[in-house]
Amino acid sequence: MPSGQTHEAINLTFFAGLAAGYAYARAQGLTQEFETLLAPQTVTLFSLSYLVGSFLVTPDLDLAENNVRAKRHWGLLGLLWVPYGTMFNHRGMSHTWVIGPLTRLVYMAVVGLGLAYLTNIVAPYFGYQIQFQTQLSNNWQELALGSLLGYYLSQWLHLVADGISPDHGRKRSKAKPAPFPKKK
Ligand SMILES: [Zn+2]
Repeated sequence: MPSGQTHEAINLTFFAGLAAGYAYARAQGLTQEFETLLAPQTVTLFSLSYLVGSFLVTPDLDLAENNVRAKRHWGLLGLLWVPYGTMFNHRGMSHTWVIGPLTRLVYMAVVGLGLAYLTNIVAPYFGYQIQFQTQLSNNWQELALGSLLGYYLSQWLHLVADGISPDHGRKRSKAKPAPFPKKK
């Protein structure tokens, strides 16, 4: 199985290919047809989520109870991933194509909201008043789609490099036990 560093190299190489393809298509005027989908903001968010998914939020965070590379990139905040590592077996549900990446998004949302809640309670004691505001821009759908695509693509490349196909889970559950026990 590829090391964390190898995964990062693979993802970066693929990203360079994408960027080159995009630059070429742009130079040829081919991107104009998809102007709404390929707006600079969306492309930026796509790239950011792809990089975050390649370096910070990888499937191998299921090993976060140990010292895994992606966790180290978070610095001290990497500790926040330890419960995730305890909850998920290595290369189990965390390494599936649809649910796997989603488990990390949900986990981050829960931890993020929890931290925001705690900050809200604690801040007044230090004389701070914190207000959380969200404002959706009018092209939020494209932005959300771009971010999701970037993130998911980075996760899928990781799975491909791990040799996990999209129907891996189904194959595994259908697999029959070996007729003869292996000799030791
Ligand atoms: Zn992996």
